[in-house]
Amino acid sequence: MTCDAASTVSAIRAAAAAVGEYRSELTALDREIGDGDHGENLARGFSAVLGKLDGDLPGTPGGVLKLVATTLISTVGGASGPLFGTAFLRAATAVGDAAELDGPAVATALAAARDGVVARGKAEPGDKTMVDALGAAVRAAQERAAAGGRPGEVLAAAADAATEAAAATIPMQARKGRASYLGERSIGHPDPGATSTAYILRALAG
Ligand code: ADP
Ligand code: MG
Ligand code: MG
Repeated sequence: MTCDAASTVSAIRAAAAAVGEYRSELTALDREIGDGDHGENLARGFSAVLGKLDGDLPGTPGGVLKLVATTLISTVGGASGPLFGTAFLRAATAVGDAAELDGPAVATALAAARDGVVARGKAEPGDKTMVDALGAAVRAAQERAAAGGRPGEVLAAAADAATEAAAATIPMQARKGRASYLGERSIGHPDPGATSTAYILRALAG
């Protein structure tokens, strides 16, 4: 099965539901090494996204992704709003006005999302941020797509890799974002943004 505008809308609704489900866990993680608002930030953004999905819907996956991007950028705030917004915006640009996406197109969109986050936030792999999860997700997605994976399979591989990568941030010392202010005290906790990235990818995979 390929991925069209309607299935993209369903995937985004699932991501919004996951953000709602994990809201307090994400906020608790951010309380350990940040300012305790990550779940609230994302929940505010994704409930605004759900509101937009009740209106006239774009006719392409790229149009849906762009609507998500602009909504997140204008409602989330914090560090993660512009970063997730940029991720969805770059993904939208990467898929263009295609009516349907295949596995390779999904992997390309994810790579563009990661590149956008890196360009915006200047974090490198190992800095204990969402880039750790996104980078691992992209590599797994590209492999799965090259092996003939369909969009859902590509996203599932991405989600598996991101979940592992989020756990792998636990022993890291943060070098970007608020958690970096803690220095060595940031060690021993998972990064909230890497964790939310994994949950969102899992939900998008369906
Ligand atoms: P804030 O830190 O402004 O309160 P959030 O709590 O919503 O924003 O998001 C924190 C998350 O943002 C971190 O866990 C991390 O994954 C991500 N983050 C912060 N700074 C950067 C950066 N420069 N590059 C990539 N990700 C970052
Ligand atoms: Mg925070
Ligand atoms: Mg904050």
